[in-house]
Amino acid sequence: MPLWHKASLFLDFVYPRSCVVCGTSVKERGRHLCWDCSRDVSLIQFPFCSWCGDPVQGQVDATYVCAWCRRRPPAFDRARSAAHYEGALQHCVKAFKYGKATHLVRELGGMLSSCVDVHFANEVIDAVTYVPLHSRRRRERTFNQSCLLAQHVAGRAGFEFSDAGLYRTRHTDTQALLNAAARRKNVEGAFAVRPNGWVSGRSLLLIDDIMTTGATVSAVAKALKQAGAHRVWVATVGRGV
Ligand SMILES: [Zn+2]
Ligand SMILES: [Zn+2]
Repeated sequence: MPLWHKASLFLDFVYPRSCVVCGTSVKERGRHLCWDCSRDVSLIQFPFCSWCGDPVQGQVDATYVCAWCRRRPPAFDRARSAAHYEGALQHCVKAFKYGKATHLVRELGGMLSSCVDVHFANEVIDAVTYVPLHSRRRRERTFNQSCLLAQHVAGRAGFEFSDAGLYRTRHTDTQALLNAAARRKNVEGAFAVRPNGWVSGRSLLLIDDIMTTGATVSAVAKALKQAGAHRVWVATVGRGV
């Protein structure tokens, strides 16, 4: 029996299987989102920007690049998100991140793994890494939600997992209340890579929970590229507006 499945049986024992959104009981082992609430999760489908993955209205072809990416080319090579950050998904991510419901990593990590399978199947991925929290916030929260998601994705696909020596050079305000320009400024130069030589020449899959303007993942990708990363692919669970 795979280790993750054993862990899943254990967690089912510790956490009763009820839907995290509506509270109804969930019969499927390892699930914490009922069928109705799962259907409320709006998966992102084409059309979207070929670079940043931001959904667009109307008809565009597969090479379409949005005005944001044309104006300020992101430091990552491609970003994709599993679902729109709204409704049941938003509820789930908030419970995971702020309610310390870390067992939800299986629901959210499952969505993320599917997204990676669909959008990065033809790409080389040498290792999976994640957006670091500042040490102060990491202590307050006791875990890094993106790290748990990255470990889940790496474990499911058999990719190497690494923290890539990434760290935050300073504490930053939460991005949620800032406009696009302020978000960019807030995280500019806020990430660095310890000189361990590990990143150089590697193609990395960078994981975060939510992506909105892409300022954070782009700032992290920039630090990875400056440390010599060959490619930085980005995958997030939710895409905010
Ligand atoms: Zn439900
Ligand atoms: Zn774009």
